[in-house]
Amino acid sequence: MRLARCVQQWILLNTLILLPWVSCNKLDTIPDSGEDLPRLGARRSVSFREDVHHEEDGEGLVRPLYRQRVPPISSTTSVNRDFYFPGPTTRRRVTTVPTGSNPDFYFDYLRDESRQPGRSSGAGRDRPRAAAGGTEFSYNEKDKNGPTNWYRIAPQCGGRYQSPIMLNTSSAMYVRNKRPLQLVGQTNLPQAIRLQNDGHSAKFTYVWNEGDRPYIRGGPLKTKYFFEQFHFHWGSNDTLGSEHVLDYHRFPMELHLVFYNGLYSSFEDARNEVDGLVVVGMFYEIYDRFNEQLNTWTRFLQEVITPESTFTIQFIDTFPLYEVIGDVEWPYFSYEGSLTTPPCLETVTWIVSAKPLLITAKEIREFRRIRTRSGGLMMNNFRPVQKLYNRRVFRY
Ligand SMILES: [Zn+2]
Repeated sequence: MRLARCVQQWILLNTLILLPWVSCNKLDTIPDSGEDLPRLGARRSVSFREDVHHEEDGEGLVRPLYRQRVPPISSTTSVNRDFYFPGPTTRRRVTTVPTGSNPDFYFDYLRDESRQPGRSSGAGRDRPRAAAGGTEFSYNEKDKNGPTNWYRIAPQCGGRYQSPIMLNTSSAMYVRNKRPLQLVGQTNLPQAIRLQNDGHSAKFTYVWNEGDRPYIRGGPLKTKYFFEQFHFHWGSNDTLGSEHVLDYHRFPMELHLVFYNGLYSSFEDARNEVDGLVVVGMFYEIYDRFNEQLNTWTRFLQEVITPESTFTIQFIDTFPLYEVIGDVEWPYFSYEGSLTTPPCLETVTWIVSAKPLLITAKEIREFRRIRTRSGGLMMNNFRPVQKLYNRRVFRY
């Protein structure tokens, strides 16, 4: 009798110990942020096509398991999607800069060489703004308002916290104990997306319903930063285009997602504050085993070939940030820097992913068809790398 009660108690005790483990073990992928988790039910979410799978967890949160669309490859070789800090064996179509050479000089030389002769697109409004206001900047070092003279337009461009910079895995300080970086609301759909050719880049600005605006938190960030817009920097060929240089490699394109500190009411309000902005930088590399659409949103670029043009992507065609960058689970660099165009405000915490996204040759050609105010092709719209001075770069 006594033995039976003892066994009964033992079973009860085990059940009590195991119960919470069983109900919680599906939650292990949700980082413990200590803050309230977003409730997806209150927000519209997007349905993904066949390449994205959803996983239902214990709290009713739907967390899509994202993989960038990569077409199936029939051969036995496969693309390495687990690329992290690059080692010497990583295959990439990028330019290698010899150690010790001055990267600024090197890339300026390349830029001049690859410059396209301007062809007028016929519209009078395509004339450069320099004629009117005198504040227009140029990416061409030979121009009066080229990168080394930007400080004449905006004094901060001559500061000691400027971006972009060279990122080096070996010299960056590794942060061992880190909070996960999270992009909350990454699957939210906006009301519309305004795509704009602003004369220097193709910019996607989302129009949000109240409460739907995504934000980034964790990692090096002390507060939430709300998403404002994203835009790109690209080259005239696949050996150049990115602004940051990773271990002496330049990529053909770089995406910038701009966020502003939630302590301020808007991007305009935050941009001048010391902790005002976060820019997430992501490199692209060419996916050369397939030449169709990998990034469906690139189809809209043809709508803004004309300088100063704007195209509104209606709700039915909108896409979440998730469709552009996927999960934010990559290793990255972080440092204190600036906007990479005038006014070069030194209020940016940079987060630059070490894992490139993929784009096909056909898609990047869509970028290279876009035109500038002078009628030339918009390309090589990247600023030369800036001196680090006494800043430290962290690796997460
Ligand atoms: Zn940018």
